[in-house]
Amino acid sequence: TPVAASNFIRTIIDGDLASGRHSSIVTRFPPEPNGYLHVGHAKSICLNFGLARDYQGKCNLRFDDTNPEKESEEYALSIQEDVRWLGFEWDGAVHWASDYFDDLYNFAVELINKGLAYVDDLTPEEMREYRGTLKEAGRNSPYRDRTVAENLTLFARMKAGEFADGEKVLRAKIDMASSNINMRDPAIYRIRRAHHIRTGDQWCIYPMYDYTHCISDALEGITHSICTLEFEDHRPLYDWVLDNLSIACHPRQYEFSRLELQYTITSKRKLLQLVTSKRVNGWDDPRMPTISGMRRRGYTPEGIREFAKRIGVSKSGNNVDMAVMEGAIREDLEAIAPRVVAVINPLKVTITNYEGALTREADFHPQHPEFGSRQVAFGPELVIEADDFAEVPPDGWKRLTLGGEIRLRHSYVMRCDEAIKDAAGNVIELRCSIDHATLGKNPEGRKVKGVIHFLSVAHALPAEIRLYDRLFTVAEPDADKDVDFFTYLNPESLTVVQGYVEAVVQDAAPETRYQFERLGYFCTDRRDHQPGGKLVFNRTVTLKDSWTK
Ligand code: ATP
Ligand code: MG
Ligand code: MG
Repeated sequence: TPVAASNFIRTIIDGDLASGRHSSIVTRFPPEPNGYLHVGHAKSICLNFGLARDYQGKCNLRFDDTNPEKESEEYALSIQEDVRWLGFEWDGAVHWASDYFDDLYNFAVELINKGLAYVDDLTPEEMREYRGTLKEAGRNSPYRDRTVAENLTLFARMKAGEFADGEKVLRAKIDMASSNINMRDPAIYRIRRAHHIRTGDQWCIYPMYDYTHCISDALEGITHSICTLEFEDHRPLYDWVLDNLSIACHPRQYEFSRLELQYTITSKRKLLQLVTSKRVNGWDDPRMPTISGMRRRGYTPEGIREFAKRIGVSKSGNNVDMAVMEGAIREDLEAIAPRVVAVINPLKVTITNYEGALTREADFHPQHPEFGSRQVAFGPELVIEADDFAEVPPDGWKRLTLGGEIRLRHSYVMRCDEAIKDAAGNVIELRCSIDHATLGKNPEGRKVKGVIHFLSVAHALPAEIRLYDRLFTVAEPDADKDVDFFTYLNPESLTVVQGYVEAVVQDAAPETRYQFERLGYFCTDRRDHQPGGKLVFNRTVTLKDSWTK
């Protein structure tokens, strides 16, 4: 039984299985290897692979590799890694549209033979002009009535490399007066001398996306070809190509709305611009909405899949608040991340009435005793969060102030006796004393409300901690076509601080997740963290929602 919420696509599949139209389903996820996958792709992956899983069907991974200039092996490998990391596995071997280049060529010859395709010599500019507009019908190209024999010869010569790039195209002969511009004799092959990651220099003509996609789907026996709404207008072309070829299988295309996530962008092309302009540190920069960026930041596959479930699948606008993503991630981390103490903005505290050291046992997770426990150390030299001290406390202040008391978590009640300042008047050290009778016990005769975390300097380790904020300062940075989205980059999207962590994390492997008590969820950096050496943590998400204020 399906685990995910129902949606219109599941309703269609239920109907197809009930009517016997299909006995099982085959879906596909068809990325172009021209960039790293982003959160929008994660939605499509969860949908396509999730359907296959829930209906005991199959889902193919197919690279739509028909634009050789923009595609690379690195991208193709990263896409496979990301799909697997999200928890999915494709059926059989990876498929490539380029596996079908011979078939695609032969099908084009079939269209020519049927009088349904012709070689056109118009320049791209002329073609655009002849195509017409939404209001105005297009005009037939003067080359539209070439004979079948002439077209066959010219197409073979295109393939043989006798013409320059862009000199000719093969077009489907459909209807230049169609109200759907996609049906006005779309190009199906173009000449492009570019090295292809799979076929090398074997081809100098490449099939166009719309023509390739439907045939690839049919050759793979896809039952439900699910894509985003901008392809709705391309569906008549999808069907026209398959209706006119001797190909038995005719998959049905269904469209759903693209995910857009606020305060970020979901376009590979624009994400590539951020990478190449070095506004971020690569595709997997933890501020990026790429799957590899979210991974490096510490998001979990389970949390991302839960996010995909929550946003659902429909045809209506899907502009989603970042709080939905962070909520799903936080809930997962709350359940799985052990808790430890870190101090990210350290203020030195000297305990004037204590010598030596002691440790107390503390659980890694209050609800999960099976996570075990560790020893939390106390000593005469501590660090606390600078924010936990206020010389002039605001109303309702429950943390430390001059002459006031707080409880050090897992430890004693401490009073602040003196604040030491530098020449500029900044507090650089607190001199405090503890109540020796309060180790794990309430003090007598008074209530101490505030509890703060701390680390004993002798037992803590220094760590680099990377704090991330939203990448853009506005919810829809690329909404206005006339404004460069770089304008809205948040200059404070990354803050690197030097803090301290409990020594127990010393040997943590890269990609280990923790809750730093009172601070949020953090993850050791996949690239820069060295177990037993330089410790580097990324803040995955804060403890509370900071988006919907
Ligand atoms: P981009 O515009 O970012 O390059 P794309 O659609 O061109 O995206 P593809 O590599 O063709 O990228 O995408 C593979 C699949 O992922 C497609 O089926 C596409 O519909 C889906 N997809 C891409 N972006 C989104 C999104 N924002 N929301 C949902 N699905 C998406
Ligand atoms: Mg695409
Ligand atoms: Mg694209």
